[in-house]
Amino acid sequence: MKVWKFIPLLMMCVQSVLPGQLQVVSTYGYIGDIVSRIGKERVEVVTLARGDYNPHVIIPKPSYIAKLRRADLLIINGGQLEIGWLPQIIRQANNGAVQPGGRGFLDLSMHVHLIDVPTGVSRELGDVHPEGNPHFFLDPDNIPAIANAVTARLVELDSDNQAYYEANNKELYALWQQKMKGWEAKLKPFKGEKIVEYHRIFDYFLHRFGFTIVGTIEPLPGIPATTKHIADVEKLIGQEHVKFIFQDVYNPQDASEYIAKRLNVKLLILPHDVGAVKEADNVFSVFDEIVRRLTNV
Ligand SMILES: [Zn+2]
Repeated sequence: MKVWKFIPLLMMCVQSVLPGQLQVVSTYGYIGDIVSRIGKERVEVVTLARGDYNPHVIIPKPSYIAKLRRADLLIINGGQLEIGWLPQIIRQANNGAVQPGGRGFLDLSMHVHLIDVPTGVSRELGDVHPEGNPHFFLDPDNIPAIANAVTARLVELDSDNQAYYEANNKELYALWQQKMKGWEAKLKPFKGEKIVEYHRIFDYFLHRFGFTIVGTIEPLPGIPATTKHIADVEKLIGQEHVKFIFQDVYNPQDASEYIAKRLNVKLLILPHDVGAVKEADNVFSVFDEIVRRLTNV
């Protein structure tokens, strides 16, 4: 009879999923990190996209479908950032729990204010973001709004642990407040600094900390630089006394390097998400690393 006592224990050991644990799938690393901080051991989070890949053009893997099939909750960035790769995974996973519009689907772009909303949209204008700029995570001021939306949804799906999720959200908020003070102090001397970006991925960060964006190296979103456009950007850099080029880790760097060298401008390769560079391993260290790379020149 004694052996029966061990069976439940044994079953717990072989199960990778703890009973009652919410299964969450996030599209990008920053979402996964925020969910882990709020859900801790009450949730299991799987993130689909790698942080050092181009977030607009993730190549879907069959394993993504299996992960989504088991999920209770899918959390996406939204603002059409996943439009090129996620809809087919949702379709193939065929999981009724995580369909857009349902309780098991959370679109974070609905909880923040989007900037750069185009007035007229046409594919001739390049691979535009028709709902506005979806890279809102890069304004650290949006972290509490994202965390609140995640907390509310975890509470909705698992109300027994409401106090637990809310306490973890408070803890995240306190850390955010402390971090924000540090970033603001370090970036104060850069207020009004004029910069050029490769793609408009750092707009939120730049607006938040008072930089002025004078141009982009890609002539239109998603379109590589041309010789004519590079000449225009060089002229602008000279006229506006631009000192920095901000570039992500995944786009080709040759045009930026060419301009930086010719005009003696500092090229900064910066993380846009958790996992984009090894130092940026959580939502706070993404900004720590941007600030460090910017202030260390
Ligand atoms: Zn973009």
